[in-house]
Amino acid sequence: MAEETIFTKIINREIPADIIYEDDQALAFKDINPQAPFHCLVIPKTPIATANDINEDNAALVGHLYVVAAKLAAEHGFAEDGYRLVMNCNEYGGQTVYHIHLHVLAGKQMGWPPY
Ligand code: ADP
Repeated sequence: MAEETIFTKIINREIPADIIYEDDQALAFKDINPQAPFHCLVIPKTPIATANDINEDNAALVGHLYVVAAKLAAEHGFAEDGYRLVMNCNEYGGQTVYHIHLHVLAGKQMGWPPY
């Protein structure tokens, strides 16, 4: 199992976060340093360190993160205009918290490429 990160503390309510969604498998909360008008993170309650650790055993859980992300985007009115879902992996991917999280970025036109 992945080591505990700050996101485990958020799941356990040991540190505050602006939680906008929760179910038995996942939690979503506003990013503390938003990069778009709407920026939240969708995380599994069971920690998975990086995208490298995604496999057939946790595929349904990871898929569920996308279901939650799409639901939140729709609920907040971004489905039609669109939005971006990002999961950074390790140093070159720009990952800083080693508990996988799906960034949901919305509310402005995104640029590409992302560098
Ligand atoms: P990066 O930090 O480069 O964006 P990640 O993809 O690992 O790398 O994203 C971690 C995200 O977690 C960042 O967007 C950061 O703002 C956010 N974050 C870190 N600590 C908290 C916190 N306590 N509450 C909400 N968001 C947080």
